[in-house]
Amino acid sequence: MSSKQQFSFFESVERYFDKAAELTNHSQGLLEQIKVCNSVYQIRFPVKIGNSVQVIEAYRVQHSHHKLPCKGGIRYSEHVNQDEVMALASLMTYKCAIVDVPFGGAKGGIKINPRNYTPGQLERITRRYATELIKKNFIGPAIDVPAPDYGTGAREMAWILDTYHTFNSSNIDSYGCVTGKPITQGGIRGRTEATGLGVFYGTREAMSHADDMEALGLTTGIEGKRTVVQGLGNVGYHCAKFFQDAGARLIGLSEYEGAIFDPSGKGFDVDDVVAHRKSTGSILNYPGAQNLDHSADALELECDILIPAALERVIHGDNAARVKAKIIAEAANGPITPDAEDILLAKGTMILPDVSDVEKNIIAHGADEADLVYSGLEETMITAYNAIRESWKRHNRINDLRTAAFYVAIEKVACAYEELGIFP
Ligand code: NAD
Repeated sequence: MSSKQQFSFFESVERYFDKAAELTNHSQGLLEQIKVCNSVYQIRFPVKIGNSVQVIEAYRVQHSHHKLPCKGGIRYSEHVNQDEVMALASLMTYKCAIVDVPFGGAKGGIKINPRNYTPGQLERITRRYATELIKKNFIGPAIDVPAPDYGTGAREMAWILDTYHTFNSSNIDSYGCVTGKPITQGGIRGRTEATGLGVFYGTREAMSHADDMEALGLTTGIEGKRTVVQGLGNVGYHCAKFFQDAGARLIGLSEYEGAIFDPSGKGFDVDDVVAHRKSTGSILNYPGAQNLDHSADALELECDILIPAALERVIHGDNAARVKAKIIAEAANGPITPDAEDILLAKGTMILPDVSDVEKNIIAHGADEADLVYSGLEETMITAYNAIRESWKRHNRINDLRTAAFYVAIEKVACAYEELGIFP
């Protein structure tokens, strides 16, 4: 059996959790309560597509009710399943806790490939999904707040908002039922690029510590560093753009149809590559670039920083030994399996766990709103990274940043439960 198949995604998250949980002093009951998913809603609904009816499979998982509302993205992908949504929901709880955002983690998913549907069909599927969530009280500003994720964006959030609003038109707070909506619908400037920017700020902070960089054979700072990005969607594109603007050299870029490498070492202009992909339909054959047959080949390029920004579990037991990056900055959720992590840590790779999926409440509106999002995010990511790093450096049984991140998260969620007085 391939090592990629050894653990499901949720089991992988549980393994990361257990590794950190055993370093804490909390009772088994409390740790169990933190680890499990509190509510799992599995839905099947019919939608008329063309001349036939398709039964659509969808999910919403609320991992933790220790703070409400729950919050987390909605993913459209043909690979969606309950295990994946449970894993993503639990990761959201830990990310929110690390950055002190007072929400429980949640995630949703619809098992469709959005490329196979027209916008009108996607709208019908989305509105029906939203209606199913409303029916079971699985959505609402005080209950559970969806956001964009893989395969979804502001458009889908607008459809969900409109559906929710139709059923709750007298509720002045109903616009708070989703984040990541269009600006005209009450969305916040700066939200779209926030996840990519958070990854940038976190990596920049990690690379400012001279002793850590020296251990990797690197100088401090992002400027000039050879960088590879997998996935040029919302998160990946903005990551690439922020790294490029900070002087990183984008020597490898990957999309689902293949990847490109810059043999000159100067680095691509991400906007130009995106424009090329738009006009030709593929990232391949970009002028001056070397084509790589498989998108995953980019993960194995010789580079300083590797940013997986597409999907989970792309670095696994079968390819980890060939990954040459000195730093892996996670932008996707869960891109590294536990067995791959063991291999990477053994060879000294620095893994920066993704904690960037943060949305603080912003109350200003107008042109300065994006500045507020940016500066709030910058401070949040710097503080979060240094809290994780401090646990890593101080605790003699914590040997890596992910265990440190889970440790910090568990302590914070445990604190919220302990204050409830249920657990001894
Ligand atoms: P997206 O749909 O906007 O983009 C994903 C991109 O990855 C697409 O362009 C897709 O074609 C590409 N892709 C798919 N398979 C690939 C492969 N094998 N190799 C290379 N590229 C591939 O999705 P997104 O919102 O950017 O999400 C990407 C990741 O970031 C996901 O893991 C998601 O959970 C995570 N994330 C997203 C957000 C958000 O705010 N959008 C927040 C937190 C985390």
